[in-house]
Amino acid sequence: MTTHHDAEAAMARARREFGEHGGVNPSIEASTTFTVLEAATMPEIFSGRRGPESGGCYLYGRHFNPTVFVLGRQLAALEGSEAGYAAASGLGAITAAIMQCCETGDHVVAAHALYGGTWAFLAEYAPKRCGIATTFVDPDDEAAVRAAITDRTRVLYVESMANPTLAVADLPMLARIAREHDLVFIVDNTFAPMVISPIAHGADVVVHSLTKFVSGASDIIGGAVCGSTGFVSSLMDLHDGSLMLLGATMDPRQAFQLSLRLPHLGLRMAEHSRRALAFAERMRDRGLTVWYPGLPDHPHHARLRSLMNDGYGFGGLLAVDLGSPERADRFMERLQNEHGFGFMAVSLGYFDTLMSCSASTTSSELTDEAKAAAGIPPGLVRMSVGFTGTLEQRWGQLEHVLDTIDGG
Ligand code: PLP
Repeated sequence: MTTHHDAEAAMARARREFGEHGGVNPSIEASTTFTVLEAATMPEIFSGRRGPESGGCYLYGRHFNPTVFVLGRQLAALEGSEAGYAAASGLGAITAAIMQCCETGDHVVAAHALYGGTWAFLAEYAPKRCGIATTFVDPDDEAAVRAAITDRTRVLYVESMANPTLAVADLPMLARIAREHDLVFIVDNTFAPMVISPIAHGADVVVHSLTKFVSGASDIIGGAVCGSTGFVSSLMDLHDGSLMLLGATMDPRQAFQLSLRLPHLGLRMAEHSRRALAFAERMRDRGLTVWYPGLPDHPHHARLRSLMNDGYGFGGLLAVDLGSPERADRFMERLQNEHGFGFMAVSLGYFDTLMSCSASTTSSELTDEAKAAAGIPPGLVRMSVGFTGTLEQRWGQLEHVLDTIDGG
């Protein structure tokens, strides 16, 4: 039986973290270096015998920082993991988590539909520069996943809801395979914070781009790694930690900003999802080809229902196939330039709608064959549905452009 995680309750508990003078918000610890009263304490911190959890000792800002540590606890609460820590970007978190699990000669099995940057890291950068190979598979094909595993496979990597196809990963099935083969099961939950809690369904590590829904304002680049205390600590090891040594740790000012946005992430996700579902239903009713896992005829609808937490809907992204890149461009330009419906921009999770043609932008790193395997047609427009204006005002704009796109 699958279990669910009450992120809202866990995050409320994690917010009992007051500022220095009793402030309701945590303080910003802006120091990059930390002093001690006795010189002998410093070697103890360096050797790992003293740290944030053992005596409240801090060393240096690229290692643990108190404000980033507070955000880490809140991120762990969000995902229901033992521990969490923030990174300078989503890709900083993803590459650190993968590198921490692999040595030269090791191997990763990954889903074929992934964010283009992650795909490029696994398909091009990691084999060339680190000798770490990846086999990309359809994660729904259990036999293919099993067949791809070698005695050097260390990581099974998927997105909970894939960019841009919105395919929902069968997390319990994949977790079972990972356990059988002693693999670290890493899930990127950037598209579905609050909606899906991958740790509750068997993930070992959850990574995020906090740049998206968690920021909510397209103003901060950030990432997160959530997992066991042992795994998160290993990322910060002075000799072997991929976050510490590759250096993609987060600035405390950004951590502070993000910590104030987590309390209303649930509310925002619910509204993003409510509008995405309404637009998806109405566009489908007009005969358009729409991908949205909240629609009952989506192949992963039942799966998402079994995985999702109550109260946050089916997610804030939808994809619609406009048939050709030219038609997709016309659709987005008219929505933005004539109606102020949203923006032609990559990224997601903004309060306004963001639209991009995936094949030529955020998935452009994929080869044509990889795009075909992942099911990304050239006219697919990905929409991260915002919540400014009223739903009916926004639908009126969308409907008008759909009515007139072919020459009206
Ligand atoms: N994961 C997913 C699913 C993404 O869509 C993105 C960025 O678009 C990333 C990771 C990378 O995040 P960042 O831009 O914060 O490095």
